[in-house]
Amino acid sequence: MRHNQHLGTIETMPKDSFEVLSDHKSPPTYNFFDGEKWVPSHSGKTIDIVSPVDDDVIGTVQSVTQSEIDSSIYRAKQAQKKWSSLPITKRGQILHLAADWIRHHEQMLTAQLITEIGKSVSEAKDEILRSADMIDYFANAGLSLRGEELEGDAFPGYDQSKMAIVERCPIGVVLAISPFNYPVNLSVSKLAPALIMGNSVVFKPPTQGSISCLYLTEIFRVAGVPDGTLVTLTGTGNDIGNYLVTHKDINMITYTGSSQVGKSIATKAGMIPLLFECGGNNPALVLPDADMVFTAGEIVKGAFSYSGQRCTAIKYVLGFPPTIDQLIPLVVEKTKSSIKMGDPRIETNNMGPVISEHAADEIEKRILVAKAEGATIVFGGKRDGRYIEPTILDNVNPHMEVMRIETFGPVVSFLRVQAIDEAVKIINDSDYGLQACIFTKDEGAGIVLGKQLDVGTIQLNNKPQRGPDHFPFLGVKGSGVGVQGISYTLEAMSRPKSIVLNKPQ
Ligand code: NAP
Repeated sequence: MRHNQHLGTIETMPKDSFEVLSDHKSPPTYNFFDGEKWVPSHSGKTIDIVSPVDDDVIGTVQSVTQSEIDSSIYRAKQAQKKWSSLPITKRGQILHLAADWIRHHEQMLTAQLITEIGKSVSEAKDEILRSADMIDYFANAGLSLRGEELEGDAFPGYDQSKMAIVERCPIGVVLAISPFNYPVNLSVSKLAPALIMGNSVVFKPPTQGSISCLYLTEIFRVAGVPDGTLVTLTGTGNDIGNYLVTHKDINMITYTGSSQVGKSIATKAGMIPLLFECGGNNPALVLPDADMVFTAGEIVKGAFSYSGQRCTAIKYVLGFPPTIDQLIPLVVEKTKSSIKMGDPRIETNNMGPVISEHAADEIEKRILVAKAEGATIVFGGKRDGRYIEPTILDNVNPHMEVMRIETFGPVVSFLRVQAIDEAVKIINDSDYGLQACIFTKDEGAGIVLGKQLDVGTIQLNNKPQRGPDHFPFLGVKGSGVGVQGISYTLEAMSRPKSIVLNKPQ
């Protein structure tokens, strides 16, 4: 028995709950969850999940068929009405229990994330605990999202005979597609709000990260999410993505991933609500009065945490030539003293491999092209398998490939500008618009400058970051559609429905 602040005394999750997930061979073959049962796919086709840490196959997941997708979505559609008619307090209790059991299994889930996606111990643990907190927060915030009552005579030309009762309704069946870099957290940021608002969820996890997501699914199921309300379909985006996003019974898509895939999904999806978090190519603009030592520390954390595989990573740094001259040696120093690259299972290493051989090839290519285009490698630049050194490039210009396309790896570029307007133009000419950070001691000047930048969020004197999770989080241009953040996501995953009462005169 355990005590939970939301639920009082509760049972721990039954020990054998995860038995149904796989065949327990070495490596295990995992089933998918069709909404009722854990089953192998009739396709007979499976996908090996290779650990980026040591190349081991850590498991094999199913590649589901179109008819399995059809029947799972049918179940989700059937289950949704019943789920939404359950009192929201009851739905909240189920979510709180899931959050509790995520915390209870923190060590197992952390170890799974480390081997599956190569996160360092502290980053993986943070992801798991933050996910549990996020579920609790969504469950509580859902209770206070309410509709409204409006009087007709507040609009010119109308009298008091009309009033609208506006309630918030679920959208229906929500398709949730998450990326490899935060497979648990960015799945939870979709599943929890969709469920608390009374939607059912068709969950397509990232292939690399899908095993962690199967564990997550089982936690929600055992916590009480009823049959059909959550289905988890594995298979690569290439194989099953198109069929899923164009399925007639999907009523909304919430997606996090690259801008390229996001754009292709948006083109195909048709007239349904979309909530997309896509790629970022985030700048740090450093003004001459900034605290350079502090700024260098933020740049190193911003550029190299989780090997630069974060949508909010710092990808380039802009400043006047003397500022950049002063900053680069400090950034190099800080990188040497604070980044320890190596096997992420060892707790003292804080930077592991990138996600795959293919990703490492792409990042290496980007570095070599930048060099050929005239950039200087000031630090790093070398690769050993999937391990890419933290890499610092100088003399980069806005036309180079490394500036135009998000490099999802540990690479940061430095650019010298002659005027602030030039920096603003470079940032605003980008195809991306997730976040930008400005370093200055003059916060007023930072705010004025921030207002000129076409991005979703400005960070003054901090690296870009998503949290706290109740702040609005959004990308403009190629970086996203819609707004996330606790109350914003809850609104996006529900819709207003008006009943207009025409009062007798
Ligand atoms: P990705 O390759 O675009 O994949 C994202 C998700 O989409 C995965 O589940 C993937 O499945 C699926 N997918 C791929 N092709 C699809 C298709 N044709 N139809 C439907 N789904 C498809 O991205 P990633 O490499 O996993 O993640 C890194 C990217 O995500 C970066 O660009 C990063 O900036 C972005 N990201 C953005 C945010 C944000 O909040 N803005 C947060 C995190 C990450 P498979 O895994 O099976 O291919």
